[in-house]
Amino acid sequence: MERDTVVQAGPGRYLHGAGTAGRLGELLRPYGTRWLVVTGRRSWDAAREAVEAGLRASGGQWAVVRYGGECSEEAALRVLDEAGPAWDAVVGVGGGKVLDLSKVVARALRVPLATVPTLASNCAATTPVAVVYGPDGAFKTSRVLEAPPAVTVVDDAILARAPWRYFVSGIGDTLAKPYEAAVGAGANLDVLARAGLALAELAGAVITAKGPAAVEQAVRGEVGPEAREVTDAVLLLGGMVGGVGGDACRAAAAHAVHNGLTLLAETHAALHGEKVAYGLLVQEVLLGHGADGVRRLAAVLRTLRLPDRWQALTGGRPLPDRRVLAEVARKSLAPDDTMHRMPRVITVEDVVEAFLEVERVAGGA
Ligand SMILES: [Zn+2]
Repeated sequence: MERDTVVQAGPGRYLHGAGTAGRLGELLRPYGTRWLVVTGRRSWDAAREAVEAGLRASGGQWAVVRYGGECSEEAALRVLDEAGPAWDAVVGVGGGKVLDLSKVVARALRVPLATVPTLASNCAATTPVAVVYGPDGAFKTSRVLEAPPAVTVVDDAILARAPWRYFVSGIGDTLAKPYEAAVGAGANLDVLARAGLALAELAGAVITAKGPAAVEQAVRGEVGPEAREVTDAVLLLGGMVGGVGGDACRAAAAHAVHNGLTLLAETHAALHGEKVAYGLLVQEVLLGHGADGVRRLAAVLRTLRLPDRWQALTGGRPLPDRRVLAEVARKSLAPDDTMHRMPRVITVEDVVEAFLEVERVAGGA
């Protein structure tokens, strides 16, 4: 049976500039004047002054609840317990996990959500999707809210304080979108899937053209025009790819490899988008794009300060032996993982060989 089309393109309003947090209260007022701020310790350190000034300017009341580190149903219940039920809107201030937790809290309270990202490391600020972990911190599932955030306020003055590696990680995760979405692209795509793919390609083009300058600005703690454009690509376009394009534009081998890599302690210091970028190299081999495909992509990754080989991903560690790589490969091939979106059946041996091929090409580059 045909399913109904659902489009959750992006937030109701997306505001990006320097000092935009100053308008937060004005943007929230249509929803009421009692606001629950959900944040984390470091996020609040970076954003408190700007966010509170923005809330104060509109004469509302607010309370601040800090989160404990994970986005889980239990953590949301603790926030609700501490804050009580009488709120007109939730304001999430932080990186991906804080924003996901604020989504779960807003849904439980049945009130609109505003997001204020403190890192441009993923598209959590603009999507209705929350990744929710189990009480043990391991098992996870995705919850999809009724709607994306009502308001997203991107303040360059806040983002400029973030460590630059998070921006680079967001760039890696977004760069993967055109590569992974293209895996599912065929002649029969409907108009929305094609729109999602076009958004992914646009995000990739912005990153390839402006990313290197944007990254150097971030390293210097500046937000220039390039960094602003790339921030829009990461925070907004990245979220719209799936929101508009739906299932056809989902992840593929690169994210599956990322999931496999989480087994290895030597990759734990690498950020999400750094592991995804490495997974993209593996995906190039699995797609049969050969040494040239790997070399071309590795050159792009280097300009973005993203890892172009195993040693760059792990701080100089050697590639593990075949037995360990096979474990990683098996995890990347879990029944519900996105490796199965590849156009042909991928085996454990294929993935192991692809790891070795990436290193062979990188070593000769
Ligand atoms: Zn990702």
